[in-house]
Amino acid sequence: MTDPAELKMRFLFALRSKGVTDGRVLGVMERIDRGDFVRGLFAERAYDDMPLPIGCGQTISQPSVVALMTQALEVSPRDKVLEVGTGSGYQAAILSHLARRVYTVDRHRRLIREAEAIFRKLDLTNITAVTADGSFGLPEQAPFDRIIVTAAAEDPPGPLLAQLRIGGIMVLPVGQSDTVQSLIKVVRTPEGYEYEELRPVRFVPLVEGLGQD
Ligand code: SAH
Repeated sequence: MTDPAELKMRFLFALRSKGVTDGRVLGVMERIDRGDFVRGLFAERAYDDMPLPIGCGQTISQPSVVALMTQALEVSPRDKVLEVGTGSGYQAAILSHLARRVYTVDRHRRLIREAEAIFRKLDLTNITAVTADGSFGLPEQAPFDRIIVTAAAEDPPGPLLAQLRIGGIMVLPVGQSDTVQSLIKVVRTPEGYEYEELRPVRFVPLVEGLGQD
């Protein structure tokens, strides 16, 4: 068994070598233990830079991708953030340290319940987790300063674009298939939306409706 301090050092080194330079993001990724969000058989792989299965056929994203998305989101301490795709809750936990308030939604009730238990255990009181189809956003809490989507749609969902505040930023994977997707950054300006393509990525698809469990 490798020494935990060494595992953590390697973990942070992997993030830096993939282009994560933002000191606040690196600081939070050092504090939040990915091991808390990975269960069972895969727990010992928690500090590897790879996605891992979390149940309901879903995955916890690769840490370097979580870090790069968080960095691109440019979260500030006053921001109200929406995450679509709670999954394990890892990304939401990271955002909770950078933002004022985090709303996170997933279509699987079971994943929401499990993530809520971890948020309670870690005393992350500024996260609200909701079971819902996130392609419609969360109209009752809109507008959002930042929106992050951690499942891939063909195009940015219209309701999410509409729920982004002017001056706000949304980061999401888009693509026609499960294999070819790009991470894009959308900035809402007073005149409309500006799009920037960041890098190729691979996410599970954004699926309509609620899950069976
Ligand atoms: N951010 C997560 C990883 C998410 S995996 C983490 O840090 O662990 C993608 C998640 O998106 C899955 O949990 C899946 O259930 C969810 N998802 C897919 N389509 C959705 C939709 N329409 N609304 C809400 N959640 C959705």
